[in-house]
Amino acid sequence: MADRDLSLAAHLRAERPSFSFEFFPPKDDEGEEVLWNTISELEPLDPTFVSVTYGAGGTSQERTVRITSRIAEQTSMRAIGHLTLVGQSKGEIESVLKQYASAGIDHVLALRGDPKGGPRAPWEPHPDGMTYAIDLVELAGDLGGFCVGVAAFPEGHPDAASIQADAEVLVAKARAGAEYAITQLFFRSSDYFDLVDRVRALDCDIPIIPGIMPILNFAQVARMAELSGAELPREVLDQVEPIADDKVAVRAKGIELATQLCRDLLAGGAPGLHFITLNRSKATREIFEALRGEGRIEAQRRRPH
Ligand code: FAD
Repeated sequence: MADRDLSLAAHLRAERPSFSFEFFPPKDDEGEEVLWNTISELEPLDPTFVSVTYGAGGTSQERTVRITSRIAEQTSMRAIGHLTLVGQSKGEIESVLKQYASAGIDHVLALRGDPKGGPRAPWEPHPDGMTYAIDLVELAGDLGGFCVGVAAFPEGHPDAASIQADAEVLVAKARAGAEYAITQLFFRSSDYFDLVDRVRALDCDIPIIPGIMPILNFAQVARMAELSGAELPREVLDQVEPIADDKVAVRAKGIELATQLCRDLLAGGAPGLHFITLNRSKATREIFEALRGEGRIEAQRRRPH
């Protein structure tokens, strides 16, 4: 099984790449059943960690904590709880951190979150809340006992003053105590490596795990990319647009493109791969098996020492 004795930060600095899966809190019980099936199909792959996103509405926040806690308690997998500043006072955020801690979850992803009006709406902090993700990194550090991660943006965060200023924000979060970063989805490996170069040029060695989302449904990915500020590059569109009406062909092409992206990232030294699963396991398993068959990733066996 994955070595949960090592913190993720320590694992990422070891030689093997990590691989991990991201889930979102389903809206209803039916969605939750689908998620648990997916989790049971992915658990045998022995990922380094899985993470659960934190939604903007009160219900899904409660579900995030509950699902993350259940993964930590009932599976062999390390669970990372996402946490955002949206719509919550500092005291409420602190209470969620304490709930995570009491469920044995000692890894959190500290995020600002998107405004309630959507990713492109203006950001307004809660009157008794916090403004930037770095404030949450510091709060988790003050409480102690957490291995804290943060978000990173290969193409820059849409609100950032510049791509360089955004890299400086990531470095500031690392200096405030963040021990790893996970990126927004992207489609060009050069965008990822350019971000790594900007961060290293600022003398910061935080491990940056690329976030991977294969194109399985063209319209859905185009919408997610638009919302997150990621560009669907012309070289990708040229391969997908001509077959956009053929769902089976789009899916096969999406898997092929994502697998190649993963190969390029690992070959260039990425410390791991984080798959945005949308709570389904099949595509992730296909990419995982292809990479494992080529010897690029391996099961995360417990080390003998
Ligand atoms: P911050 O680091 O606070 O940055 C927000 C913006 O402010 C950026 O433009 C940054 O450049 C700027 N900034 C930061 N600090 C300063 C400063 N001191 N001065 C001036 N400008 C500054 N959203 C959810 O709602 N739930 C989730 O579970 C979730 N999971 C995510 C997981 C990953 C891996 C990623 C990449 C994103 C995730 N998001 C999630 C989306 C994320 O919350 C949004 O992209 C959000 O808009 C930015 O969050 P952040 O943590 O990067 O914020």
